[in-house]
Formats: sequence, C-alpha cells, structure tokens
Amino acid sequence: MQSEIPVQDVYCRQITYLRLSITDRCNLRCFYCSPVHDLVKLLHPDILRYEELLRLARLGVRMGMTKIRVTGGEPLIRLGVENFLAALKALPGIQEICLTTNGVLLAEKAAGLWQAGLRRLNISLDTLRPERYARITGSDRLAEVWQGIRTAEAAGFAPIKINCVVLRGINDDELLDFAKLSIDNPWHIRFLEFMPIGRSSRWRQEYYLPVAQMQERLRQFGPLEELPVGVNAGPAQRFHFPGAKGEIGFISPISQHFCQNCNRLRLTADGRLRPCLFGDEELDLKGLLRSGAEDDALVDMFNKAILLKPARHRLNQNFSFPCARSMASIGG
Ligand code: SAM
Repeated sequence: MQSEIPVQDVYCRQITYLRLSITDRCNLRCFYCSPVHDLVKLLHPDILRYEELLRLARLGVRMGMTKIRVTGGEPLIRLGVENFLAALKALPGIQEICLTTNGVLLAEKAAGLWQAGLRRLNISLDTLRPERYARITGSDRLAEVWQGIRTAEAAGFAPIKINCVVLRGINDDELLDFAKLSIDNPWHIRFLEFMPIGRSSRWRQEYYLPVAQMQERLRQFGPLEELPVGVNAGPAQRFHFPGAKGEIGFISPISQHFCQNCNRLRLTADGRLRPCLFGDEELDLKGLLRSGAEDDALVDMFNKAILLKPARHRLNQNFSFPCARSMASIGG
C-alpha cells in the first residue's frame, strides 16, 4: 500500500484528519448533548478494543492521515487511555495527536497524558458559574474542571484551549467573561455555534446564536484584532484583544460552513465510519474488521467513506434534524 500522499475525495479535499471516539460513556449529561431519555450504552464487546483502534489508526496514517483526535463520550474515563495515546504517538507518519475532554478528570490525568506524549488538549467548558454548570451538565463539578485546567497548564500543556458552545438564553451572557480569560492567560478561547445534532437531544433552534452576533457583542468591549490564519489551521477565525496574552476564536459550522476545507473522517466507538458529522451515513468498519478482513479490505472501506463525503452540509438552509445520533455517541 502506498503511503504519505493523502487520499482525496471527489471534491479534491485531502483527508488528513481522523477523529476517534474511544467510548460512548460520559461522566457528564450536558442537556444539549445527551439524549433526553436514558442513554442506551454500548455493550463492552461492541466498543472497539485498543488494539483494533490502533490497527485502524495505523491504516489511516498509512493512507496519509497525519492528525488524530481522541474523543468520546469522555475519553478520560476509559482505562488505559494514556498507553493508547503513547501508541498512537509512536505510529510512523503521525504528526499530531489531540484529545478533547470535559476536564473533570484532568487534575488526576494531566501529568500522565503529558508523559504519554500528548501535547494538544481541548477542554470543553460552557459556563464559568458553578450553579449554571450544574444545570447544564447535571453535575456540580466546575471546581474540578478548574483544577484540571490549572494542573494541565502546570504539566506543560500550552496553549490551553477552551471550547465553549454558545447557547442563546443559556450562557450567551458569559461571552465577555470567557473572552476576558484570554487577556491575562495565554489561553485560546474558542466559541462554537450550537449545531442541530441528535434527534433525541434537547436541541432547540432558539439556542442557536450565529458567530456574527457573538462578535458584535464582544466588539462592544473593545477592538478585536484579527490574527493570521496559521499553517494547518483549523476552521476557527482567530482574534485577540490588543495586548492580550491569549486569543479568542470563532467556529461557525452553521452560519459560514467550512465544508469546502473538510479534511476529516470520524470513527465512532462502535466502529462506524462517518463521512460527515451531519449525515446519517455510516460504514460498518468494525464488522469488517472482526470478520477477519485483510488490511486492503479495511483500506477500501476507508476509501469508500471518503468518496461518500458530501460537498457540504445543508444545515443553514434547513434546520430540521439531519442526523439521528447524539454528539456524545458520534464523538464531538
Ligand atoms: N467529553 C468530551 C468533551 O466534553 O469535550 C468529548 C465529547 S463532547 C461530545 C465534544 C464537544 O461536543 C463538547 O465540546 C460539546 O460541548 C460539543 N457538543 C455537543 N453537542 C453539540 C452541539 N449540538 N453543538 C455544538 N457542540 C456540541
């Protein structure tokens, strides 16, 4: 099998980024992310084992994928995640390993993650107010997240990246408080538009606040200076307040989609390959893997998923629910 030249889809997008969900379990129940009714948890045998995930990751890297994000559910609740990250990091050809976490377990895990070779961490945090945090997530654990952020910083993670999903009427009054964190801390604060995902979650259109309105509100506080787009930059538009140690960014999957630059595939914890976050299309890679398939057959399925990537999602034309799974079960 050839390596290094990334596979392209039919729209000439190079697919270089694989997002691996390693568990569907989460230690929080964010009201907009979890299904309304009790979560139907995957049975353990249905979740890909680490050696299976590694084999698929190795094939992905040999197909030219250079960046892997480990997510969930909450990835830090899966035992052995540190060893798994170290093994991913050791794959020949891999350039970047990242992890997305709610931060609740970071205080106890940060040093081990650093030792495992992880250098890029995204922490999801939607409010700085303890009571609100408990209402949004169903758990009173904001203090643990703060401790986790500080411990991660002390362990060496830099920049600390905090992702905040902005929900109109729920936490949009905290935009400025979050943005101010970037003034005294060398942190990257990212504001994300709320996305209609998961038919069974409490998604409501009125929660959606477009990035343009977030920016307008922040400009009332002070001038926002746009920062240049970096090499291998993600989809965030980046800004800073003059003199700030850190920066803020905006991610607008709905109001200004960035599908034309989409370079990713997602693998769910139960081994389904998803060509697009917003679609219901999935390919059963686990079934193929466990049927004893050779590497070439698995690569064929990766290629098939790549060819199924749509030109773009249609969410800003039609806010109906396009995908059944919740974000927690896809792996955000
Ligand atoms: N547990 C980890 C965490 O909290 O970062 C990883 C999984 S979580 C599903 C990943 C991210 O998806 C979180 O930042 C969460 O806020 C975000 N998310 C979930 N549902 C979303 C939605 N409908 N729109 C936008 N972001 C969403």
